[in-house]
Amino acid sequence: MESLNNSLFARLAWKMTSNQSLLWVDSLRSKYLKNGISLLNAPTNPSSSWLWKGLLKNRKVVEKGACISIYSGLNVDIWSSPWIPLMPNFRPIPNANLDVCPSLTVADLIIPGEQGRPSPLHSEAWLLLWGLKLQARLKHLLWKVAWDILPSRAKISCFVVSDDPVAWVCPFCKGPLATLSHLFLECNLSIALWSSSPWQISTSKFAIRPISYWISAILSPMASFGIPKPEVRKFQLFATLVMDFIWRARNLLIHDGLQPFSSQAIVQVSSSLNHHITAWRELDLPTLWVPPVVGYVKCNFDVVVKGSFAVAAAMISDDMGNIIGVAT
Ligand SMILES: [Zn+2]
Repeated sequence: MESLNNSLFARLAWKMTSNQSLLWVDSLRSKYLKNGISLLNAPTNPSSSWLWKGLLKNRKVVEKGACISIYSGLNVDIWSSPWIPLMPNFRPIPNANLDVCPSLTVADLIIPGEQGRPSPLHSEAWLLLWGLKLQARLKHLLWKVAWDILPSRAKISCFVVSDDPVAWVCPFCKGPLATLSHLFLECNLSIALWSSSPWQISTSKFAIRPISYWISAILSPMASFGIPKPEVRKFQLFATLVMDFIWRARNLLIHDGLQPFSSQAIVQVSSSLNHHITAWRELDLPTLWVPPVVGYVKCNFDVVVKGSFAVAAAMISDDMGNIIGVAT
């Protein structure tokens, strides 16, 4: 009976935590959860009702699977609240060198005026991005660029005041404000790299639009640039490597004073592209299957013998790759 009660309380606690619009939830919230406190953080009180004590007693069950959906972030402590879906227990792990964790809410991390801003890409584009056959690091780069959250000088200038007139200009050309659009699409280094591609890529029309348009174009290059279908994967790899190179070159210049040279940059990106393509081929080798000539069928078979036991399997396919028979 006790476990049944606990199960019932856990279900009620879940309804409470997930802010379901129910009369009893509203009543309890107005009585016990004032000033934005959630059920997971609510203090215990001996004088509380039997129902409320039961909810608090079973909130641990809910806590294991509850992750806060961020809107304003005003009442969400960044260290103690569960708010990051990909982290263990939905909480960040403080840097080991940090003696004292600064007291911050998620609202402190949100750029003013940008909470709740609409997604820069359509849902189909996000699926394309995360489905790219690229290293996770490169896909995360595209994700950050799409959201325009890389710490470019233009972005930093939103938070930091500087009297230095060249503090926020492009580190490569010392020209305009260093936005991601300028760095990736219209600076001298980027133009040299895009021009080195085997495709005729014009970046100028994208440089005047939000950078997310450029990411959309990379994800749909057949429509955006007329890239033939067999070359789409290679193009997307090239485009991502160019952006990765530019961002790393920008960091090396700002932090270590290393000036990149366009000719060397082109060679390095080309070398990296070939390295990735070679790795692809090695990964793809086991899946290569050559169909028979038109009008014939092909039989692929395998046999395993172990002691007195043996099993054989055969698969017959036509010249279109259709499986027309399987036998074991
Ligand atoms: Zn520049």
